Amino acid sequence: MSTDHQSPSSAQQNADRKTLDQRYQMTELERIRHSCAHVMATAILRLWPDAQFAYGPPVENGFYYDLECSHRISPEDFEKIEAEMKREIKANHPFEKIVVTREQAIQDAQSGRLGGLTERPGTPSTFKLDLLNQIPEGEPISYYRNGDFVDLCAGPHVTRTGNIGAFKLMSVAAAYYKGDEKGPQLQRIYGTAFKNKTGLEEYLKMIEEAKKRDHRKIGAEMGLYAIDTEYVGPGMPLWLPKGTVLVEELEKLAKETEFAAGYVRVRTPHLAKEKMYKTSGHLPYYAESMFPPMEMDEHRADRQKIEARIAELEKQLAYYAKKIK
Ligand SMILES: [Zn+2]
Repeated sequence: MSTDHQSPSSAQQNADRKTLDQRYQMTELERIRHSCAHVMATAILRLWPDAQFAYGPPVENGFYYDLECSHRISPEDFEKIEAEMKREIKANHPFEKIVVTREQAIQDAQSGRLGGLTERPGTPSTFKLDLLNQIPEGEPISYYRNGDFVDLCAGPHVTRTGNIGAFKLMSVAAAYYKGDEKGPQLQRIYGTAFKNKTGLEEYLKMIEEAKKRDHRKIGAEMGLYAIDTEYVGPGMPLWLPKGTVLVEELEKLAKETEFAAGYVRVRTPHLAKEKMYKTSGHLPYYAESMFPPMEMDEHRADRQKIEARIAELEKQLAYYAKKIK
């Protein structure tokens, strides 16, 4: 990735970037969660100082932070990271806002200080440099500091790390920088945070309850359908007798309702030529989520081989049949 200073006008093209106004609309819970992402980064850096951080926003049920690190973080590492996070929360460091000039910020990113606990000579904060280039000219550039961790961030946060009442690391996933599959692949660590322990416990309980109500689990337990990912595919149920009764009853109800409303039914084939999906407008936009075109002659070579073998065997059979006579 280029670490050259791009002109802010090219950087402004990033549509995902939140405006300062949008950022300050963050709810209290979102502030807690985003602040927790800073605390998680602090903890990860204590364990693996070479970690390079990219984006760390709050999301629907918590937060994540994308990072590049020589160590591949797995759920087995969570306990260790959480222990460091607890230390940072217990230290109750303030989230201190520091406004800097663009030149200062570029210098701190080049020294590896941004998104780090110390300067890291020789390893510039590449993602922070890129993010800096996306800040439009004229918009203030700010850091937030908690303890030793200094991050390029517009805020807002909670006042002190101790305001994060309860948190938990949830999962790890792979993510591309800016969602671009040509870009570097990062590790995304998901976590959640709440104002207090009760909030966290209720959330974790809800996840457990939702798992119990998972239709894939219930459907199998009730003998409605089977899902065979190896031979058929995920999301493609094989309806068993009990489930088939339900499907047919629903179909009956649909037909009766349509009939009562004056609809007349027609039937169309399940498949059609590519031209139809172009006309309907599906193919130009949804090709990736559609089934690929069927190769009608996929098995032609196999079939020809089998037919030739059958013909050969029939000849032999006729020969022996003659001999027996
Ligand atoms: Zn922040």
